Amino acid sequence: MKIVIANWKMKYGVKESLAFLREFKKQKLSAGVETVLVPSFTALSEVKKALGKNATKLGAQDVFWRDTGAFTGEISPLMLKELGVSCVIIGHSERRQWLKETDATVNAKILNLLKNHLMPIMCVGETWQERNKNLTGKVISRQLRGGLKGVTLNGQSIAVAYEPVWAIGTGRPAAPQDAGEVHRLIRRDLEKILGPRVASNNVRIIYGGSVNAQNAASFATEPAVDGFLVGGASLDPKEFVKIIKACE
Ligand code: PEP
Repeated sequence: MKIVIANWKMKYGVKESLAFLREFKKQKLSAGVETVLVPSFTALSEVKKALGKNATKLGAQDVFWRDTGAFTGEISPLMLKELGVSCVIIGHSERRQWLKETDATVNAKILNLLKNHLMPIMCVGETWQERNKNLTGKVISRQLRGGLKGVTLNGQSIAVAYEPVWAIGTGRPAAPQDAGEVHRLIRRDLEKILGPRVASNNVRIIYGGSVNAQNAASFATEPAVDGFLVGGASLDPKEFVKIIKACE
């Protein structure tokens, strides 16, 4: 089943999140696409309540790699589970850039999420300079190997989001065929890291980077694209629903 994830970043507080939900819940969605809303930490609880019996899942934008302790300002997987969160974005390029996240911290977070039966949405992707130097494959392999070190899924699932850094928030998405090619490369790497059976059964590889209602269908028809991580276009409920429908 394809998965479509809304990453609201630091854009919506409680009031705007609830306004989104009022409109979003009026839309009829098929059960054929898994949908996840990822609000700010401060809105998680209210969004969960507003979702009620809606099948849409709740995600978080980050997590710490320990369950409890003296870690001022951090949020533990147990706290997220308490609020009904089922998956967490890890290693988003904005966090790698501004918060100095490394493959090692990504790895520690993923290991602890899986221990707590929360699904990681692991972001990978190259910068424009890296792409121009033909380093896309190398950079992504390094991120996958580092981030998934010691990971055994034991029946659990993960999503890997291919997000070329130059395509995020720029209105300049990758060409769907190029994204498909990188997704196949990621799949091949995952076969080596996790084993062929786990890589094909337990991992969805989704695309993120300037996806909108107009271009979603051209990505969704690429067989290697298992869904989307959407930033800007997920802030508008009608546009987000169109993106979900492109995956039906
Ligand atoms: C993102 O931040 O994960 C993202 C894909 O953003 P946008 O859709 O705005 O490019």
